[in-house]
Amino acid sequence: MLLANRVAIVTGGAKGIGRGIALKFAEEGCDIVVNALHIEGARKVADEVRALGRESLAIGADVSNSAEVNDMVDQTIKKFGKIDILVNNAGGITGAKEGAIEDTTEEDWDRIVGINLKGQFLCCRAVVPHMRKNKYGKIINVSSMGAIHPPAPIVHYHSAKGGVLSLTSNLAFELAPFNITVNAILPGPVRSEFFNEMLKDMSEKEGEAFFTMLDKRVPMQRMGMPEEIAGVALFLASELSSYVTGESINAGGGLPLTPRDDVGTG
Ligand code: NAD
Repeated sequence: MLLANRVAIVTGGAKGIGRGIALKFAEEGCDIVVNALHIEGARKVADEVRALGRESLAIGADVSNSAEVNDMVDQTIKKFGKIDILVNNAGGITGAKEGAIEDTTEEDWDRIVGINLKGQFLCCRAVVPHMRKNKYGKIINVSSMGAIHPPAPIVHYHSAKGGVLSLTSNLAFELAPFNITVNAILPGPVRSEFFNEMLKDMSEKEGEAFFTMLDKRVPMQRMGMPEEIAGVALFLASELSSYVTGESINAGGGLPLTPRDDVGTG
């Protein structure tokens, strides 16, 4: 097993990519703190982790709130005594308006940057003293390919995800002497509830057409699945990546390469 007796916090672990990571890590012997904004979802995934034979703790906490983040880390130390791995996965654009910069409100900017960038800073700040003490740590920050190759104008979210890349390289530099690695994953389009916001005014048929359109934008001709992002996270959380830090890995089915238009013609 690649993560035997490790302890990981997975933020936003109740569904989608976070749930995929929590379950993959548990299969590899890792105990999991499942964080989500609402504790009910976190509890369900914690039960799934226990069914795989590992310990788990569900914590409802808003990653953009420092008091709630600090309390999450305190609870983790109280139960497990250490934190080996932090996956900063919580994020998204729920409730925010997308589109032109002129239509982007200050309130949406502050909230979306708060969840997607400040939240990662707060979680790193809270766990690093514990990792430093043990001279061991693996931090994995979930960014987005949209940070560098925006598929649509969503300036608050994409700017926050760009900040995540900078946070990653800066912390990798600062923490390398303490055997703490910090790396980022840039997912392309992954099938999850992330898209609910965009789908909310569409019929089921329109929603499927939307996903087909996303499939075609990808050189591999399909969206990714949460488990496929979890595989990259497992590499970065395990000793397989012991000499890798400050790296950002694209996981986008070939993006940012452009899809071929001759598929099927041989
Ligand atoms: P999702 O909507 O299925 O899951 C998001 C999770 O984050 C949920 O569990 C939610 O409760 C949690 N969350 C949101 N705000 C939070 C907060 N303030 N505090 C704590 N938890 C919070 O989405 P997903 O696709 O699984 O996204 C996971 C990560 O991957 C996000 O950071 C997202 O930006 C990123 N990402 C997703 C895609 C994609 O296509 N799905 C692409 C690029 C990047």
